[in-house]
Amino acid sequence: MAQKEFKAESKRLLEMMVNSIYSQKEIFLRELISNASDAIDKMYYRTLTDESLSFNQDDFYIKVTADKEARTLTIVDTGIGMNEAELEENLGTIARSGSLAFKQQNEAKDGHDIIGQFGVGFYSAFMVADRVTVVTKSADSSQAFRWESNGTDGYTIEPTDYDAVGSTITLHLKENQEDAEESFDEYLDEQRLKQIIKKYSDFIRYPIKMDVTKYEQQEDSEETVETIEEETINSMVPIWRKNKSELTDADYENFYQEKRYGFDKPLAYEHIHVDGTIRYNSILYIPETTPFDFYSKDFEKGLELYSSGVLIMEKCPDLLPDYFSFVKGMVDSEDLSLNISREILQHDRQLQMIAKNIKSKIKSQLKKMLKNDREHYEKFFEAFGRQLKYGVYSDFGQNKEDLQDLLLFHSSKEKKLVSLADYVEAMPEEQEFIYYATGSSIDRMEKLPQAELVKDKGFELLYFTEDVDEFAIKMMREYQGKEFKSIASGDLNLESEEEKKEAEESASENKELFDEMKSLLADKVKDVRISTRLKSHPVCLTAEGEVTIEMEKILQQMPD
Ligand code: ADP
Ligand code: MG
Repeated sequence: MAQKEFKAESKRLLEMMVNSIYSQKEIFLRELISNASDAIDKMYYRTLTDESLSFNQDDFYIKVTADKEARTLTIVDTGIGMNEAELEENLGTIARSGSLAFKQQNEAKDGHDIIGQFGVGFYSAFMVADRVTVVTKSADSSQAFRWESNGTDGYTIEPTDYDAVGSTITLHLKENQEDAEESFDEYLDEQRLKQIIKKYSDFIRYPIKMDVTKYEQQEDSEETVETIEEETINSMVPIWRKNKSELTDADYENFYQEKRYGFDKPLAYEHIHVDGTIRYNSILYIPETTPFDFYSKDFEKGLELYSSGVLIMEKCPDLLPDYFSFVKGMVDSEDLSLNISREILQHDRQLQMIAKNIKSKIKSQLKKMLKNDREHYEKFFEAFGRQLKYGVYSDFGQNKEDLQDLLLFHSSKEKKLVSLADYVEAMPEEQEFIYYATGSSIDRMEKLPQAELVKDKGFELLYFTEDVDEFAIKMMREYQGKEFKSIASGDLNLESEEEKKEAEESASENKELFDEMKSLLADKVKDVRISTRLKSHPVCLTAEGEVTIEMEKILQQMPD
């Protein structure tokens, strides 16, 4: 049987595609600028292989011009251009990517900065334009061509005149619809265009120029003079691609502020270049202060994600574990598998690998800070320590290994904050457990009768002031083989054989008294016993088993 080809209603297909794959109309500019950048890249690769050509940096740029009267937006590039056949193939076939083909042919050469791969980005222009004109001349031909389409009735190609090699894309913006919410006028507005370029295309490696209006107040009169100046809008070289040795603390702080990662100053930063099986650049920050909504549901964790310098996602949550949700910053990688809209990522191995890598970088950065800069670390811990403790507690203690060395607790020794490693290191040989007390304030815990015996022995005592503390260490069970023991639960077993004997004797001597007490307090206590742990206090309450009195209080407050 003869196979027949599918006939597609291409205009409807185009319409559907363009309006359904992109969540925001403004990205059309990102797509056209990315194409222009790819075209210049191709020209650049050409100069690497063709000795008769030289690459003169100044000759290569992208220019965006808005004409309010004509309602057109124009994107000019000095890239490689297209000949007639290429126009037909690349702009006449949806989902045909000349750039992907180029990358495949040039795999051996360093071609991975090329952005295009799906062959649909160009058509996003039809989200805002009802007619698009492309005038282009290929580096390989002396004849220029003009391609034009209204997005629904196909396209035309005809020869035309064009001086230079490269392309001019002209969008005839759609008319604003009365009573419709959206307006297309914004894409003629200088400030708005600058903002879109900055947002998505700031790190395109070639200058993106615009004619910008400047207003200058005349000295001797009230008049302001309007002048138009050509300006480069993008910063081009992203700070993360620069060498660490070229950068100062101030550069990193400026970037933090520029990006509005926070309104504070970063407490610490880390600049990462990874060039192995996975390649990425990243700058990570630990903020100084807790964002006001940090411990609320509204807080969104995530890092900015770039693919070859183009912004893909403003907050990619998959790059950070919840317990490091306070980290701010960005990741740029050439190796991401993007989906067709370049907005959503495939949840694939590359992303997971980057996330894993980033997690261990943050961990070692924090460990380093704890070791070398205790003052800063304590500041950090004050702001975000609770989140780390929640991390230990959640996921059934899965994160214990990652987090246990980053925790700090108040200690009975010199009322300092100590890490568990500090604690264990200072333990006298005969000490078996890590002792802790729970309570609402350190002062109160210091006065607990149960604390006396432990401190008398010369053992250090951890004071847990936050609800999450005890839950977290219950999940950990032990640290370096030392179990945690609440001074309020069960028998501490700190007495000598002699003291034990004495207690036993005294218990049997006073059996009647204790039985009497037990029956009087029958509905309040489980048992009344002789204690060897009390020194200056006559009596204390203890809990038996895993749940301490403090935990019980919290559990009782929780809604059912
Ligand atoms: P993609 O960029 O994913 O390949 P597009 O739909 O954005 O898909 O573009 C399709 C193809 O058209 C590109 O791969 C490229 O070959 C060609 N193209 C688009 N814009 C230009 C341009 N400004 N200069 C040269 N070629 C271009
Ligand atoms: Mg493209």
